[in-house]
Amino acid sequence: MHLPSFPPPNPPNTSDIMSSLIPTKRVDLLAPYMALDQGSSVQAEYIWIDGDNGLRSKTMTLDESPASVADLREWNFDGSSTNQAPGDNSDVFLRPVAIFKDPFRGGANILVLCECYDNDGTANKSNHRAHCKKVMDAAKAEEPWFGLEQEYTLFDADGQVFGWPKNGFPGPQGPYYCGVGAGKVFARDFIEAHYRACLYAGVKISGINAEVMPSQWEFQVGPCEGIVLGDHLWMARFLLLRIGEEWGIKPSFHPKPLKGDWNGAGCHSNYSTKAMRTPGKGMAAIEAAIQKLEARHLDHMAVYGEDNDQRLTGLHETASMHTFSAGVANRGASIRIPRHVGAAGHGYIEDRRPASNIDPYRVTSIIVETTILNV
Ligand code: ADP
Ligand code: MN
Ligand code: MN
Ligand code: MN
Repeated sequence: MHLPSFPPPNPPNTSDIMSSLIPTKRVDLLAPYMALDQGSSVQAEYIWIDGDNGLRSKTMTLDESPASVADLREWNFDGSSTNQAPGDNSDVFLRPVAIFKDPFRGGANILVLCECYDNDGTANKSNHRAHCKKVMDAAKAEEPWFGLEQEYTLFDADGQVFGWPKNGFPGPQGPYYCGVGAGKVFARDFIEAHYRACLYAGVKISGINAEVMPSQWEFQVGPCEGIVLGDHLWMARFLLLRIGEEWGIKPSFHPKPLKGDWNGAGCHSNYSTKAMRTPGKGMAAIEAAIQKLEARHLDHMAVYGEDNDQRLTGLHETASMHTFSAGVANRGASIRIPRHVGAAGHGYIEDRRPASNIDPYRVTSIIVETTILNV
């Protein structure tokens, strides 16, 4: 058999690859096939976090719908192709942990979030969920709730911010936050598709808004208790990236995607315990939690996202990453107590330090370790 030489004699140049990112899904061609009867078989999309904080997935056919994750088979993949294992010991194992409905294939088809394990049974280096699950189980009695605000920036197939003029910049920030009207809002159709796909899938998305920088958006997930927040946030990210394939849009989770006078992107992490939510004693619990968070500021910053130093400058509604601060209604503080929480005397706090590219399992687990488990 004639094997193609490698690399191919005429490798496509980068711009060819980029333009092939433009609509990969021909809805008109695909529709009749998606309407075909698939019998009782179910397509299960196994999804996992790779070695570079990205997502991967592959599909398995099931004979019937699983009643729970316990009915789903463990699977494996080549970890040397995902920066998760060396080539000479490359098998990484996928253990299903959560099931969502599949908005792409519809019907009884499912999305399956998985944890990654190495051959020796230990959690893969990319698997921060395993530790998070132990932490959340240990803190169960305090009922930790999280609501995360995922900010992200849209890029087009050419690597430019989506919708920005090709040879210049849009007008300065001001009209874009929660903007309405042509020229003030970008890719609303893509955002709507993602929102509805989350609702269909069963992701607990609590809202969306356009952000301060044009073509930057936010969705919120929560409140979710314990491990559920990380599961739902990762699934919401999967849907965003996957739908982007169809629009030719590349969402970026980088905390400072553009240098200069443009806002960075964060993942504000709202948090409460049963005590913090209790009328009469909530504020005392909130103040105690803030003191503990202050004492471990640097430990938290270490897991609050790569390149977060480019974002936490003290400008653009951020606090400096070198100092810890807290205050009611203060969007320049590390921790903000929302005005209505201050007024009611109970509720939740907002940790404004985490960057948009965090692993939510790491952030939610360290918050619980610091404030509940006293690590
Ligand atoms: P902001 O005013 O900072 O933009 P958002 O409305 O975007 O706030 O997000 C607030 C988040 O707080 C939501 O994700 C919501 O689910 C979450 N939240 C609300 N109440 C609680 C609570 N008691 N504990 C934890 N999170 C909460
Ligand atoms: Mn918000
Ligand atoms: Mn925001
Ligand atoms: Mn916020």
